[in-house]
Amino acid sequence: MHRRLLAPGVLAASLLLAIPASAANFGPGAPGIGDPYYPASGNGGYDVSHYDLRLKYQPRTDLLEGTATILATTEQNLSRFNLDFGLGVSEVRVNGKKAKFSKEGDQELVVTPAVPLEKGRALSVVVRYAGKPSELKVGGYTAWHRTPDGGVAAQEPDSAVWWFPSNDHPLDKATYDVSVSVPDGTQAISNGVLQSQSSKLGWTRYNWRSNKPQASYLTTLAVGRFDITTDRTADGLPVFNAYSKDLGDHAGAARASIERTAEVAEYLTEVFGPYPFNALGGYVPNVTSGYALETQTRPFYSPRQFANGANISVVVHEMAHQWYGDSVAVKGWKDIWINEGFARYSQWLWSEKEGEGTAQELADYVYGTRAADDPFWTVAPGDPGPDNQFHVAVYDRGALAVQALRNEVGDEDFFKILKGWPATFAHGNASVGDFVKYAEKVSGKPLAELFDTWLYEPSKPDAPTAAESRIARSDAGEGTREGARPVQPKSWKKIAATNTVHEHAHR
Ligand SMILES: [Zn+2]
Repeated sequence: MHRRLLAPGVLAASLLLAIPASAANFGPGAPGIGDPYYPASGNGGYDVSHYDLRLKYQPRTDLLEGTATILATTEQNLSRFNLDFGLGVSEVRVNGKKAKFSKEGDQELVVTPAVPLEKGRALSVVVRYAGKPSELKVGGYTAWHRTPDGGVAAQEPDSAVWWFPSNDHPLDKATYDVSVSVPDGTQAISNGVLQSQSSKLGWTRYNWRSNKPQASYLTTLAVGRFDITTDRTADGLPVFNAYSKDLGDHAGAARASIERTAEVAEYLTEVFGPYPFNALGGYVPNVTSGYALETQTRPFYSPRQFANGANISVVVHEMAHQWYGDSVAVKGWKDIWINEGFARYSQWLWSEKEGEGTAQELADYVYGTRAADDPFWTVAPGDPGPDNQFHVAVYDRGALAVQALRNEVGDEDFFKILKGWPATFAHGNASVGDFVKYAEKVSGKPLAELFDTWLYEPSKPDAPTAAESRIARSDAGEGTREGARPVQPKSWKKIAATNTVHEHAHR
């Protein structure tokens, strides 16, 4: 339905004559971007190119206040549009002029500009706001981690709603300047490069920049007291790691893992091609959660990931996402396999490189230890549904699909595909269907049936390739016999320990 500009009485006819024909078509932007998994995520009618966030955060009270300046282009004639945001708003300006605004539900900020907006024009939106993110609940849930010395935003599929207004969906990526002022002695960590920091009157401001397109859920903020390590990679990229001063016994294992980020990136560069961003690193705040997240250039890790010692496999997983998930992001959340299937498979490749079990042995182990009646096989990694978006099957069955592709096309084409995909879709979005087409193009083989079997059928596939390799190894006297439980690869436990990687609350 379109809201039209109406004028009463006799004025209407003459007024309409004075308005360009297109003005009759001004209507509201959609309150969602059109993702069936999360209908409220994102919005319609405009495309954001840049976010400038200038914030101040007081750890003692959890009060976050500041100004967001959003640069966008209109994609339709707009009478009004939505942003996704939950904190309290005091003023909105559109193209410099005060705009009307109202909240709808937990997370929709409806903005009505003083003058309707024509399609294809530059748009600037300034939002002044303040609030305590820990007090904001969406569907009874908060993504904000309140810590003894600050707070952290790092959650999937969304966390932006808790700290800045946005078009909150991976389809609308943008560059970011994130500037945060915190009390002296406290740090504010975000994505990309720390451009500068300065102190004044007891407050220190940190200026962060992400110069490549970044999805809103991959934009992170962590305020707290951290030990920082900095360095440069062999290629000259800045490395910035941060460890809460409050990690207790986990501190050593956390550092022994994350300090290897540059080494992991070097290996993944061999497999996936050039590292896509301007910085790298990782951070471990003193949160009580158990997961990790591929926040762009600077993954978030929970201390619990390191409860049993260093775990390099989780670093491999999150760093693999920089190519598979961050640079090439999903078109819709149903496409989660193009993130998680490959991040999990990268852990298998790392295991293979380290001599702790080949990808085929890991595939055989997953296949052999999941009985045909295991509900695991009813989850379709190619379209798992919002409730199963982060089910272990998306990871493990998803990686089986990747191994099945490798066996079908052979190593030469397989590694060509692994490297070509991030280059072809760099800094964009892609779907499962795009991957199938791309793999068919590179290999010259029809692959629809193979992917249908491994990504969509709600039952345990026959696994001729995996079975053949098991029998082959039995003949050689070193494998397991058909029907027997395969031997657990050495790397299995560390890989399985990353299965809380994306524990999250559904809304
Ligand atoms: Zn992941």
